[in-house]
Amino acid sequence: MSNLNDQLSADLEQLRVAGLYRQFRDIAGAQGPRVNIGRRELLNFSSNDYLGLANEPLLKRAATDAITRWGVGAGASRFVCGNLEPYLLLEEKLACFKNKEAALVFGSGYAANVGTITALAGDDDILILDKLDHASIIDGARQSGAAIRVYPHRNLRKLEEILQQSQSYRRRLIITETVFSMDGNLAPLAEIVELKEKYAAWLMIDEAHATGLFGKYQRGLAEQLGVENKIEITLGTLSKALGCAGGFVVGSQTLIDLLRNRARSLIYSTALPPSVCAAAATAVSFVTSEAGAERCERLWDNVRTLGAQSPIHPVIVGDERAAMELAGKLFDAGIFVPAIRYPTVPKGKARLRVTVSAAHTVADVQQFLKVYATLTR
Ligand SMILES: *Cc1c(COP(=O)(O)O)cnc(C)c1O
Repeated sequence: MSNLNDQLSADLEQLRVAGLYRQFRDIAGAQGPRVNIGRRELLNFSSNDYLGLANEPLLKRAATDAITRWGVGAGASRFVCGNLEPYLLLEEKLACFKNKEAALVFGSGYAANVGTITALAGDDDILILDKLDHASIIDGARQSGAAIRVYPHRNLRKLEEILQQSQSYRRRLIITETVFSMDGNLAPLAEIVELKEKYAAWLMIDEAHATGLFGKYQRGLAEQLGVENKIEITLGTLSKALGCAGGFVVGSQTLIDLLRNRARSLIYSTALPPSVCAAAATAVSFVTSEAGAERCERLWDNVRTLGAQSPIHPVIVGDERAAMELAGKLFDAGIFVPAIRYPTVPKGKARLRVTVSAAHTVADVQQFLKVYATLTR
């Protein structure tokens, strides 16, 4: 008999000792400001469902109607027989929403990053990443075969130095999140745009945590800062503020045509279920409606009550086990907040990642602050 289980048990034991062992948490019922875990109802500050759309009746109706019409599975990739009408409608909506020529939907935000980065860069190119860029950006960069340089988080001086030193590459692509997923702070996007223009590099932004939330029209941080039309490649997800699942890229028609031909995570993967596309298209319509703007205002009220810069508020604990312990105490006090540990964040930078949603009341947020203050006094 093989020794697989013995070896893997030893690996798992190492994770346990380091406080890095991961387990799923079973949630009974839909996402919302309150969730049922075990027999208890807890206040939920863990979700990326920032606008409370994951359980929104309008979206659910769009999804069930689409299931009735299109069935549950797409049947194949979009190149084979999966290119159903809900995709085209969603992509039209996304391009229009983001004010770009064209859009392309992927199975997930992860797949969108990996597929896009590997399609755009190869052996002769260099990718320039913020130190805190998401794992899907890092994985795409590694798979691409391009050279990779990483600048310290939000460090423009170092970014410029890398741009000065990298003039011999065929393509230079800077990739940054606009709202950082585990820190909730913002990229210095206007300054990055200036640098990429000065050095004739390209810029790709990941607006996973800004789409639907930032800017007058809720398109993202690039809209808020007035730099949208200077950015070559914009990625977003349907899985966070839009409450559904999937990822997308918007940009020029040429960019989208190229991605359609080259992005392996699109070509070799079954298309998203049509119901998800229908729900996501409804989410985009909702976000751009008056009701969506109101929903967004409620979210920002909660962000202000929390004292944060974005819906993501990290409480840095440091030690991995201490972070788990604090999350456990909050859990016992009726509040669900996940502890985030290495490798999602650097070693020794474990934290609670507190997120608020438009579905919370201000009283919910105050309740969290009160409990947290009592536990850490
Ligand atoms: C969540 C996230 C993704 C991946 O999106 P999924 O739809 O969850 O696969 C990509 N980039 C960033 C910055 C994210 O936070």
